Amino acid sequence: MKRIASVIAIISAVILAFLVISDAITPKQSFSFFAMNTYVSGEVEGGESDNLPQDIEDIIGNLDLKILSRKAEGSFVYDLNKNRSASPDAKMTEYFETLREVCKKSDGAFDFTLGGVSDLWNFSGTPSIPDSAMLADVLSHSGYEKVTLSDGRITLTDKSAVVDFGASGKGIALDSVRDYLETQNAKRAVVSVGGSVLLYGKDDFTVGIKNPFGGNDFAATLTVNECCVSTSGTYEQYFEENGKRYHHILDPKTGYPAESGVVSATVISESGLLSDALSTACFVLGMEKGFDLADEFGATVIFVTDDGKIHCKDGADITIDLNGESFTLVKH
Ligand code: ADP
Ligand code: MG
Repeated sequence: MKRIASVIAIISAVILAFLVISDAITPKQSFSFFAMNTYVSGEVEGGESDNLPQDIEDIIGNLDLKILSRKAEGSFVYDLNKNRSASPDAKMTEYFETLREVCKKSDGAFDFTLGGVSDLWNFSGTPSIPDSAMLADVLSHSGYEKVTLSDGRITLTDKSAVVDFGASGKGIALDSVRDYLETQNAKRAVVSVGGSVLLYGKDDFTVGIKNPFGGNDFAATLTVNECCVSTSGTYEQYFEENGKRYHHILDPKTGYPAESGVVSATVISESGLLSDALSTACFVLGMEKGFDLADEFGATVIFVTDDGKIHCKDGADITIDLNGESFTLVKH
């Protein structure tokens, strides 16, 4: 009897070991490439295609060049700006409607018509402070309410408003990758497109909030379940002149870099589009209004302010671990 029991124990141990080992050797496919003006990298476990990295590169590349980029000739947004009107497909209609909600609910702090103003600052080239009269003129032609959607057409009602989905494109890319991973029955994946990350699959993930004051370390780490996490920060694209930092997140009311005391805003949402758009919106709005805006979309926002504090709402369903003693956590 004893002998049979020990044989069963050995068999069970072997099965258990196999299960653990087989879990450990689930094939992982890693990738990194440049798209949407930023670095994309990731790792996917499981999934049916042997060509996941190439598929993901194609999905993001096509989304950028055929749909979202306002600089790529022939993309949907390029044609919309050129022809002042275009017919969106179902996906584009969904992006547009959700983003317009973010514009409205943020009271215009998020504005998808800032293309002309962004061009004057030229953050993706050699940036400089624009001439103030020119800035005021271009700003007077922007404003999200100057873009309408009716009878299946998006129309720009101002002769020179420029639609720019730059503040949400990376998040939309994450949503597209997630849709693809679902069709592939992938098990687990982490995919980052610039400052936006998709965490896909069961169990917890740990993700860092970059130290916005510089260096390669983290201000804090978050423990989260499947979601998208996006950060907008002053450290991403900026230049300095006369000791002042000018960064690429603009206040649509002034046309100048937003100054809300916030150095980074990190938003956690099921939706990549929302995490990305809301991180920009919350950055511009600052803490109090930013907390309310995130609530309205069922998202969570974490701010780092210029005094080295990390702020979150009390009761936020998320674990935040500070990295060392340089930062303090304040719950609101
Ligand atoms: P990044 O693209 O570096 O991740 P964000 O997601 O915060 O940063 O988006 C910033 C980009 O969005 C800018 O480069 C600009 O094109 C555009 N932008 C800047 N300010 C705003 C704003 N208030 N609302 C919408 N888009 C903005
Ligand atoms: Mg953004």
